[in-house]
Amino acid sequence: MGNEHPQKIGPYVLEGVLGSGGMGTVYLGRHEETDLMAAVKILSAALAREEGFVERFAREINAMQQLKNPHIVELFESGVDNEIYYYAMEYVEGETITDRLQRNRRIPWEDVIHFSVQVCSALKAAHNAGIIHRDLKPSNLLIDGDNNVKLTDFGVAQVFAASKLTKTGGVIGTASYMSPEQAVSQRTMKQSDLYSLGAVMYAMLTGRPPFVGRTNIDIINKHKYGRFDRPRMIVPEIPHWLDEIVCKLLEKKPEDRYPDAYVLSLRLAEIPKKVASINRDETKVVVSAESGIDDTASATVVSNLDYHDGPGAATIMRDLMQVELERQRIQSPVAKVFNNTWVLVLCLFLVVVGGVLWFGPNGRKDAGSNAPNESKTARRITAHDRFWPQAAPTNEIDRFLLLAREHREMGDLTRAEQTLVALKSILLHDAADQTVSLDLIGHLLADIRKNQNARLKDYEWLRSSIARAQELFDANEHQKAKEIHDGLKELYKDDPFASELINNAIQSIDRKSDLTK
Ligand code: ADP
Repeated sequence: MGNEHPQKIGPYVLEGVLGSGGMGTVYLGRHEETDLMAAVKILSAALAREEGFVERFAREINAMQQLKNPHIVELFESGVDNEIYYYAMEYVEGETITDRLQRNRRIPWEDVIHFSVQVCSALKAAHNAGIIHRDLKPSNLLIDGDNNVKLTDFGVAQVFAASKLTKTGGVIGTASYMSPEQAVSQRTMKQSDLYSLGAVMYAMLTGRPPFVGRTNIDIINKHKYGRFDRPRMIVPEIPHWLDEIVCKLLEKKPEDRYPDAYVLSLRLAEIPKKVASINRDETKVVVSAESGIDDTASATVVSNLDYHDGPGAATIMRDLMQVELERQRIQSPVAKVFNNTWVLVLCLFLVVVGGVLWFGPNGRKDAGSNAPNESKTARRITAHDRFWPQAAPTNEIDRFLLLAREHREMGDLTRAEQTLVALKSILLHDAADQTVSLDLIGHLLADIRKNQNARLKDYEWLRSSIARAQELFDANEHQKAKEIHDGLKELYKDDPFASELINNAIQSIDRKSDLTK
């Protein structure tokens, strides 16, 4: 240890520096009587001299000492030695989430869930005691040797909230994890911690916080008004349930997030089970295909549904029922019956047979009369007694269908639609027997267009501005139209969907002016 560092503070002999942050330096200390190791934080002298600081410090330390939870760094004691304020806490041998991210760039989603459930346990304990963390961020999360996480610096933000240094920006390190309501009014509630946890989860999953900017003001404004890319758009392998949760935590209005950390932890803990259930189904399909059980209609139906349309109908049905029944802990005979895959397969088979009879030539004869391809498909389905294609998903058509599905799941509806339209236009003129795929493409396109329409509703103002630019252009006010486009491009530069709408509008105007030249 260099000369500039103290050798001892209070009863702690300081053995080395663990790190330093905005509020001071953290040392590894050994208690001179008990030999207990501790992390000792020495607060900067400038802070300690501020008016009211000593009272706030004493009050918060007192509250923090009440908090006992395996995922909260325990506060041992605090004191003042030679006018230097310090507090001693449990020493966690390991690294912070910041260190882990610097080393590995991202954290696998399974570990993110594991850590987040533990943070929820810490937050629940604190919130029940009326304490809000206010400064949850990766550097306040310590991972120990057993890969368990502990949250530190509880209440510290509160101690420094009124500090002049905080106000002048000297203390607060980053605004990357701060909730919008905190940024606006410094008013915090338990949902503010949930927002910060959402931002930390986002960073763990994708390797960067939801909003980045050149200055803290920039970042704060994005928390208040900005849109972010969904985590799954950056890392497609994240389960969509987890993606949904992170997005919900990052809602601008506190009431749109989860009601509390406990509910959140339940939702998080369900995900590995849901994913395992889907993987089990997929393994079963592969096993049954490999062992040649594909001559039963039901096995084929399950296999093809699973492959073509995300988690298949059988998977979704069983998954949802299992999770819901498990969650409510209903040990009813109904639960037992639906736990059996083959019962579900039978249900599904009955639904499919019902559908075939309904749409087949002996059922609703008018169903396909105004849609030549669909009617041919329906007839052949009946003739072949199958709903989905028989072939194993190894051909090019299936590969492109899967690709379109991936685009859709990543939120890139335009590319998903383009892929399907391109595929459809080829299949329409292909003499080969592809009509079943055409039917499927029709369903997928309808689904995508439904999503697109829902999404367009969020962009009404943008669309009316684009329309206004178009009117101005048509009235020969080219410069004004350009100014609107430039303004929109600047405002929506972080939003890929909106940028695409704007670029399409500009391109269509460019084409028009080329034609009139
Ligand atoms: P920040 O202000 O960035 O949150 P701190 O001053 O709280 O940083 O901590 C600085 C560094 O000290 C941390 O990044 C961590 O490496 C280390 N540290 C803090 N608390 C502990 C602890 N209880 N056990 C072990 N190391 C710690």
